[in-house]
Amino acid sequence: MAKLNDLTLAEARDGLAAGDFSAVELAEDCIAAMEAARDLNLFITETPEIARERAAQSDARRAAGGAHGAMDGIPIAVKDLFCTEGVLTTAASHILDGFHPPYESTVSQNLIDAGAVMLGKTNLDEFAMGSANMTSYYGPVKNPWVGAAGEDLVPGGSSGGSVAAVAANVCPGSTGTDTGGSIRQPASLCGVVGLKPTYGRCSRWGIVAFASSLDQAGPFARTVRDSAIMLKAMAGHDPKDSTSAPVEVPDFEAAITGDVKGLRVGIPKEYTLDGMPAEIQALWDRGAEWLKQQGAEIVPVSLPHTKYALPAYYIVAPAEASSNLARYDGVRYGLRVDGDSLDEMYENTRGAGFGAEVRRRVMIGTYVLSAGYYDAYYVKAQQVRTKILNEFKQTFADVDVLLTPTAPNAAFPIGAKMDDPVAMYLNDIFTVPANMAGLPGISVPAGLDADGLPLGLQIVAKPFDEETMFRAADALERAAEFTAKPKYLGGQGG
Ligand code: GLN
Repeated sequence: MAKLNDLTLAEARDGLAAGDFSAVELAEDCIAAMEAARDLNLFITETPEIARERAAQSDARRAAGGAHGAMDGIPIAVKDLFCTEGVLTTAASHILDGFHPPYESTVSQNLIDAGAVMLGKTNLDEFAMGSANMTSYYGPVKNPWVGAAGEDLVPGGSSGGSVAAVAANVCPGSTGTDTGGSIRQPASLCGVVGLKPTYGRCSRWGIVAFASSLDQAGPFARTVRDSAIMLKAMAGHDPKDSTSAPVEVPDFEAAITGDVKGLRVGIPKEYTLDGMPAEIQALWDRGAEWLKQQGAEIVPVSLPHTKYALPAYYIVAPAEASSNLARYDGVRYGLRVDGDSLDEMYENTRGAGFGAEVRRRVMIGTYVLSAGYYDAYYVKAQQVRTKILNEFKQTFADVDVLLTPTAPNAAFPIGAKMDDPVAMYLNDIFTVPANMAGLPGISVPAGLDADGLPLGLQIVAKPFDEETMFRAADALERAAEFTAKPKYLGGQGG
């Protein structure tokens, strides 16, 4: 018999409502799957005792006939970038050793309020900086899909543990954060659905900050419908985050109508890259055809500033990171390495506490913000950002959504691209523009490459129009009929 951890979120929700099984039974299967998957290194901290307690509470609520949350009894994994009250929160950094936040992030609190059951805190790139989950102090995460010769592959990053937990059927949903692509790119590499909502849709309060003007939380799930259910539970205005938008959260699941007739889908020509694998271009063309067959109108569009998005991101993101990470000084949080003076203690702590990629970002960020370089780099990057935003605004006067590939490659072997930061940064070439402009974007598994590894397609929509994004994503999902499973789950796939 299939285990309960194999169910989608909607199936688990409906099964709980029908009384087919209890939240405790569901949690036990997910805990067993979490323990069986330890070789993938998905979790930094497992919290089975919390899962059991919350599952029992959910069953008690249901038995008492009381009010239910939209995710009552559903097990989830939480990226270890969300502060969780009393539970170790590391951001995958040595510098946060032993940090047990006295508060809960708004998004994880919203999920608790919706009845979700936390299984544990997932592995990630240190401070969410990376595209392969290779920079974690706690070691790499393995993708449940493996290479053609059986080699271990990266799950993408930075939300590597969260994405792989969903791809390995440990749980039906998990949280991620996306600053330049850290939800959508790993979703593409692991064959699951991942989305970044509009900037401001989810509160950033209590999420360890990387680049505050770009960071957004979002869900991973195995279907578009599941993502819609989970985003609704995560989102909402929060007075504790001044950039959180005071807008209503629509019923995203109800927006999935199955009807894309007349939808105008833009295909930006600048997203065709030299040297991009032919199968990614072919998949993109097929995606456009699928939408057209369902009555959408395909519109070629041009976004000429796209090519500046990635370089500008790698100025803005490190600049904000260098400022946000100034708080880790050996006094307020986690690790302290003593020295003969206060300055030496700061230096020793930060030198020992931050990994190589984080130190690189802090140095780039400090450089581009320093007197003499500020105008040449930081101000220029902000101007480019405005141009990108304006270009999207003009384009969205003519189209409802954009269709693009999610990533320029499938999953690659653990250890690859590590000696070439620019090659690693290129992973986010198609995802970064949406962060620079604050737009919602979703990656839907759409096909396999020649090695049997998953590839995703991305839908980008107007600000706060996640409903249209979900509608288009559902149309892609239905046409793609992506049913391949990783070898880890006994599938034919890589
Ligand atoms: N890979 C990008 C980076 O390293 C984006 C990471 C993210 O979205 N958190 O900055």
